[in-house]
Amino acid sequence: MKIICNPTSFGGKARKAWPKVVKALKDVGLDFEVEWTKGPGDAIRITKDSVKDHEVICAYGGDGTINEVLTGIGQTGFKTTLGILPAGRGNDNAFSVRQTGKLDDLVDMLVQQETRSIDCLEIDDGARYCLGVAGAGIDAAVAEMVLGKSSRLSYNFYLLKGFFTYRPQPIKIDIDDGRIILDLKSLSVLIGNGQRVGNKKMVAPNAVIDDGLIDISVLGNTRILETLITSLKLADGTYIEHPKVEVYRGKKVVITTTSKKIIPAHAMGETLGPLPHTFVCLPKVLKILRMSDTILKREGWDKANVFSANLES
Ligand SMILES: [Mg+2]
Repeated sequence: MKIICNPTSFGGKARKAWPKVVKALKDVGLDFEVEWTKGPGDAIRITKDSVKDHEVICAYGGDGTINEVLTGIGQTGFKTTLGILPAGRGNDNAFSVRQTGKLDDLVDMLVQQETRSIDCLEIDDGARYCLGVAGAGIDAAVAEMVLGKSSRLSYNFYLLKGFFTYRPQPIKIDIDDGRIILDLKSLSVLIGNGQRVGNKKMVAPNAVIDDGLIDISVLGNTRILETLITSLKLADGTYIEHPKVEVYRGKKVVITTTSKKIIPAHAMGETLGPLPHTFVCLPKVLKILRMSDTILKREGWDKANVFSANLES
């Protein structure tokens, strides 16, 4: 097993917490190799170099790190199993696959090496992959402003700035090659394979991570006050009840714009560059480590409707 670590995750807290993790892994006699990233994109490169020698690759870091390891796994044909050792601020990817929890639970997961298969978002024919949430619009604009600034204070500052500077833009959304075509002014389009993004914001509350479908939330032409009120409801997912929010399900989404302005897009807060972008749901293509049934039951995650198996029971 290989563990790819990002020392800068959570403003450097990941690096500080690492000795405790190493001790826990060594205490159970786990055999693993460690490599630290040196900058953005490095985890993709390390993953691609490592897939031939490792059946399991773990990402130790935040959502950006996990996104990069996943992209490396995707770009080499999804042969390797992904493990998550969440060490970021939001840990939204880990939440979406229910891999959060105590260090003991994570160690148990690495020892047992039980796996499950989940869907993965393929972006622009494999330029990037994402297991959580991608999007275009205000949230991507805020993510770009925040880039490289690690404090929570600056995030909230730029979020507020975004509310007053980013206005709904002309967007065209094509779901499943013409099955649904939307042509509207939109504040944001959120594409949910997983449920959460942006530090615990439940933007796709009904997303099921292995149903072969992506949940597409389209926020319409909101005024500034509406934008503020709606954004407050992002945290628990109740924003989808707002009359200017529509939710669709599909297998493929193409988002374009006729605006002369640059409309930014993101995958789990990592910038994808401006529109257009294509997002395709690859059903059950990604193998991930899973917590044992005992842990899932203890945490109540066996009843969470995030996996299709739980919907049936
Ligand atoms: Mg789904």
